[in-house]
Amino acid sequence: MTRLEPGGGQPLQWVASLPLVIAMLDPFGRTVSYLRVSVTDRCNYRCNYCMAEDMTFLPRKELLSLEELDRLCSVFVGLGVRKLRITGGEPLVRRDILSLFRNLSRHLDSGDLDELTLTTNGTLLEKYAADLAACGVRRINVSLDTLDPRRFQELTRKGELAPVLAGIAAADKAGLQIKINAVALRGVNDQELPQMVAWCGDRGFDLSLIESMPMGEIGELRADHFMTLDEAKRTIEQRFQLLPSDYRTGGPAHYMRVAETGGRVGFITPFSHNFCEACNRVRLTCTGTLYLCLGQDDAADLRAPLRAGQSDEAVRDAILEAIARKPKGHDFDEQRLADGAQVVRFMSHTGG
Ligand code: SAM
Ligand code: SF4
Repeated sequence: MTRLEPGGGQPLQWVASLPLVIAMLDPFGRTVSYLRVSVTDRCNYRCNYCMAEDMTFLPRKELLSLEELDRLCSVFVGLGVRKLRITGGEPLVRRDILSLFRNLSRHLDSGDLDELTLTTNGTLLEKYAADLAACGVRRINVSLDTLDPRRFQELTRKGELAPVLAGIAAADKAGLQIKINAVALRGVNDQELPQMVAWCGDRGFDLSLIESMPMGEIGELRADHFMTLDEAKRTIEQRFQLLPSDYRTGGPAHYMRVAETGGRVGFITPFSHNFCEACNRVRLTCTGTLYLCLGQDDAADLRAPLRAGQSDEAVRDAILEAIARKPKGHDFDEQRLADGAQVVRFMSHTGG
């Protein structure tokens, strides 16, 4: 059993009989309490900033089974993770995904977990919203970059807007609190952002805007559509007054309040502002690789100890050793963006 020493020291070996008092403290004194888990790299869309049109997906045997996912998540909960976000790829296309939510909800019941949530493209929410609510899901993020059906089809390369809107309505009806995520893209949805602020405000949804990040080779130059959120903010301010807000979710978004609607707009800005100081999260891929930072390649293979039949304690040690290497921050920068993809893996594999 290991415990990390705050401030960058080496893991301390504990006597196995001592009680388990472990928090995942990284070398910079940040406590890791949030795990994002990609349950599949597959998706029913091909959003053009996220995937190549002819994506090759992983062979199924590479993917963690639902039982393996449950086991790993549970070890993380034992290590102090308080928030679990299920993502992908599109998490709701994974067969029998509800059974994972049902099983993980035991950690909500026991009080060991504060939040079980997901990020989805919304296409299957009409089918799943009520069941997700019954599993203790309270808030969800739905990705929606445009409200224009034609633009939506172009951007997702195969998507229909109507089922997504129906899914969002179903989630709302099921009592789920909804946050809309939109990637701001120059020449695509930039002029539509005020309309999206109004649409979210009318429905009581928060809206988070995201700068596009250089992940995976998508076969077109990202820089063509990249825009900073300072520009997005100026566009929104042509129609709305944005007021400072001290609302924080513990995540990278910095929020502003919309005077006219009372709603909130979050800005997630990896390029224009550093968001790493308070980073409390790590990411598990659908193949069981633990990434310590979305923008860095250092990782730990947790599938190997699982499939070698090792104990939860051995898995826990592998996790703690990895957390001891969590880097201070990413180094995305605009020059690398102009040069093409920086991080080789796709967001859909790592889990956005
Ligand atoms: N399929 C689900 C969805 O779209 O919500 C979950 C997975 S998706 C990878 C998670 C989030 O990552 C989405 O909000 C998507 O817009 C965002 N995303 C994907 N690729 C991105 C990129 N290169 N830069 C910034 N955000 C990206
Ligand atoms: Fe699929 Fe989400 Fe990526 Fe779009 S952003 S292709 S919906 S994983």
